[in-house]
Amino acid sequence: MKDTIQMIHGSGGRATGELIADVFAKEFDNDVLNQMEDSALVPGAGRIAITTDSFVVTPVEFRGGDIGRLSICGTVNDLLMRGAVPKYITCGAILEEGASIEVLKRVIHSMAQTALEADVRIVAGDTKVIEGHGGIYINTAGVGFVKKDVDISAENAKAGDVLLVSGTMGDHHAAILGERMGIENEIASDCAPLVDMVGNLLGAGIEVHTLRDVTRGGLATVLKELATASGREFVVEDENIPVTPAVRDFCGMLGLDPLYMGNEGKLVAIVPEAQASDAIEIIRNSRYGADACAIGRVTDGEPGRVLAKTAIGGERILDVLEGEGLPRIC
Ligand code: MG
Repeated sequence: MKDTIQMIHGSGGRATGELIADVFAKEFDNDVLNQMEDSALVPGAGRIAITTDSFVVTPVEFRGGDIGRLSICGTVNDLLMRGAVPKYITCGAILEEGASIEVLKRVIHSMAQTALEADVRIVAGDTKVIEGHGGIYINTAGVGFVKKDVDISAENAKAGDVLLVSGTMGDHHAAILGERMGIENEIASDCAPLVDMVGNLLGAGIEVHTLRDVTRGGLATVLKELATASGREFVVEDENIPVTPAVRDFCGMLGLDPLYMGNEGKLVAIVPEAQASDAIEIIRNSRYGADACAIGRVTDGEPGRVLAKTAIGGERILDVLEGEGLPRIC
């Protein structure tokens, strides 16, 4: 590892993983944090889930959202991915000298509106101002309550389970990249809290084995991480993975792979085969889940391998994102 932090350390790919392992996980070492889940399950009066995330996206306002909405969605969704009901949020704002107060007001309003939508309360906060160039950064921590019988974890994926996605891939990443490049198109961020979707799945008694929101690093990185954590092989059908025509065109134009493009309002669910069609129906009837579908299966093949099969009979092995995955999207 180099002596200084490089941009690549924020990519969400291999370099980020190595930085986290070498610096943070080593020092903060404990059995809860070491599971590296979307949020930690800790004992208490009942069980609570706790998570934190920092948001450094530029621009701070973009089609389909802004850093305020994003900062609630990211944290709420990480709590939901352990089957928690999100309850409390903290807000740490780091503002660079020169940041527009008008923009800040819009962002914080959006944050409050999204908290209402997600039915969480922002219960603690902190603001710091530093020298800089007008940037706005937000950190949120979140706490959620987990019912006694809920057990959702990466390691619960079993051979025969079905892999589902809740909608189209790459929308948020393409929206941010388009804004950064000044490209005029209709692509909007999918940034959304998935409270309704996860609540409906659990409420209907679907035996959800694993949930993971598809963020930095994209679907390919998420699948690889889940396959590794569960010690299973995942096999997906390329043609079943939903991508909007606009995002597909955008990726084609720039030579990008939508499977490595992040979202901020989509999830992967791993469910028993017997309940897969019910689960898809429930997600489709939930807010932000209209394009849900099955994309593949968990098998007892080579542990940790993710195979993507193409329509013409080819296959490729998916790995975690290598390289930077610019721009900063969350
Ligand atoms: Mg996550």
